[in-house]
Amino acid sequence: DTNGGSGGKNDNICVCIRKRPLNDKERKKKEHDAVTVLHPTATVHSAKLRVDGIHKYLDHNSFRFDHSFDEDSSTEQVYQYTAQPLVSYVCGGRGVRATVFAYGQTGSGKTHTMSGIQKMVADDIFSFLSDNVLEDDSCCSCDNTTISIAIFEIYGGRIQDLLNKRNRLKVLEDGRGEVVISGLEEFEASTPEDFLALIEAGQNNRTTHATEANDESSRSHSICQVLFRDSTSRRLKAKLSLVDLAGSERGSDTKSHNRQRRTESSDINTSLLALKECIRAIDGDSRHVPYRQSKLTLILKDSFTSNYARTAMIATLAPGSLSTDHTVNTLRYADRIK
Ligand code: ADP
Ligand code: MG
Repeated sequence: DTNGGSGGKNDNICVCIRKRPLNDKERKKKEHDAVTVLHPTATVHSAKLRVDGIHKYLDHNSFRFDHSFDEDSSTEQVYQYTAQPLVSYVCGGRGVRATVFAYGQTGSGKTHTMSGIQKMVADDIFSFLSDNVLEDDSCCSCDNTTISIAIFEIYGGRIQDLLNKRNRLKVLEDGRGEVVISGLEEFEASTPEDFLALIEAGQNNRTTHATEANDESSRSHSICQVLFRDSTSRRLKAKLSLVDLAGSERGSDTKSHNRQRRTESSDINTSLLALKECIRAIDGDSRHVPYRQSKLTLILKDSFTSNYARTAMIATLAPGSLSTDHTVNTLRYADRIK
């Protein structure tokens, strides 16, 4: 029993937050640090006033998570508590679906955190699989398992292959309820170096807007699938998905004068809301998982409906006082995941 039997619903979902340090840009704007992290709690101070020379906070919001990482935390620490247990789980199990999400406003550290995690995943997968070779009858070992990588993004309702010339892909559910992304290319990786070269190639192909240099990839969800296949039959044994979500603030950005932007925003809003509902439904009755509500959740269907689904959500926080509304929204979202 891969789920450990007695575990309650929440054991298969890990929700954590990571606060990044205040940066120079925020300091220049005279922003102060409005977020206090004291594991397992994160607190946002929504307004600071100076009364008789003393700083006072008018309002605050506190939330508790499985893990809360402050600005001094390393990506290694975040990895150890979130993705690493999932990596060891997928390397040991048949039918396993493990998924790691980075959620947060643009500039809060999603890509920074996920790209660090991908490097650690690359090393750990190959060392876990070689350790498994020593065990008799291990279902995933270097001897009988091929690792392949596929990377794509969902951008304005389109699915584009980031490892194959941004080819447009179609997602469909076949007669047996299997979700297929037709045309998606996957590439074999036999070493951590191969793995990272593919990740880097995918990252370089993400959507950028020529006119808004700092807007890079904030409107797309990027998904990296690590596929564990039987070396002989090519049958899928396990899958690890690493998901760098679109900036969460984009979901509310529906006032734009640009029609395409407005549509994108409402797509992002729909998909992030659907995602929350689908993660909440893990381990419940899989007939009630609302995965058809968005392309993102349709593609991730088995992350929610597999009997061996585990998920880690990393919500990233920008500490600046001008970001408090977005930060509170991020914390509320993460709080509702479990
Ligand atoms: P996002 O992907 O959420 O838009 P990024 O990961 O690109 O945000 O981070 C924005 C900037 O902040 C980058 O320059 C990144 O290197 C930096 N940054 C993010 N998180 C941290 C952190 N924990 N420590 C130091 N710098 C960070
Ligand atoms: Mg990013």
